Amino acid sequence: MMVPALMYHHISPINGPHSVSPAVFREHLQLFAEHNVRTLSLSEFEAWRAGELTLSQPAVLLTFDDAWLDNWVHALPILQEFESKAVFFVVTSWPGDLGPRWDLQGSDSWKQPSHAASMALAGTPEGDEVSMRWSELLAARDTGLVDLASHSHRHGNWWEQGATWEEKLAILEEDLAETREVLQKRAGECSPNFCWPKGQFSNEMVRIARSCGFSSQFSTLRGGNGMGTSKLVRRINAENKPASWLEKRLITYRNPVLGNVLGLVHQKLHGARLARRFASAPRSEFRFPLLASV
Ligand SMILES: [Zn+2]
Repeated sequence: MMVPALMYHHISPINGPHSVSPAVFREHLQLFAEHNVRTLSLSEFEAWRAGELTLSQPAVLLTFDDAWLDNWVHALPILQEFESKAVFFVVTSWPGDLGPRWDLQGSDSWKQPSHAASMALAGTPEGDEVSMRWSELLAARDTGLVDLASHSHRHGNWWEQGATWEEKLAILEEDLAETREVLQKRAGECSPNFCWPKGQFSNEMVRIARSCGFSSQFSTLRGGNGMGTSKLVRRINAENKPASWLEKRLITYRNPVLGNVLGLVHQKLHGARLARRFASAPRSEFRFPLLASV
């Protein structure tokens, strides 16, 4: 059995990269409901990977990166409608402090700016217009459907920071310590799950994150997920395409042979891409072990 993890960003009527419309998102959840596919919580996913939970039906893990305000406006009400579980990966320096915007939930008139515009605003004084607030994140968690976990503190481009490889690693370590502290303070606990921003990680970075307490790490590597506790979680990018598209992807990535072979090919390509970007790092950093086991 393999459990595919889907990677969503925006659930928004605005067309664009990383955006799935509310109608299509509803179709995706409808597909799971019709096919008796169970949406797992993070702890259920972890328990299954550790061999402590037996799944008697197909399962999927829904993940949302960046915790955009449209997740509060559109994604959460639809998750509630289907009682689907999901994880929101939060950039812990982005959420604001004001109260929950209940009036926006399900609103058709409110519009999230494009992904690029949202990214430019996030973390600035105007970031409140595009990011979920802590009060909203906690309200989402309190529905019992949403887990909160870290997506770093600053969502930095690691390759642009620090002059040397050692400096980059030190900046990463500082960011991880900060995100742990903030999540602990704001949410009462810091999940051992971590999601790498912008798909940037290396073997050493994965080891550092593990030593900082993030034993389970989510990547942008494609593929399915088998059992085992020491693997980088692979994900499938959820596109703004109908249920028939998603169904084909799920069949592919639930197949252990196809899921692993496609995963290995993508892992190799992604490693080569990262090695070009991280010019100051040793090449071996991006030769990921088989099955992304580190
Ligand atoms: Zn991100």
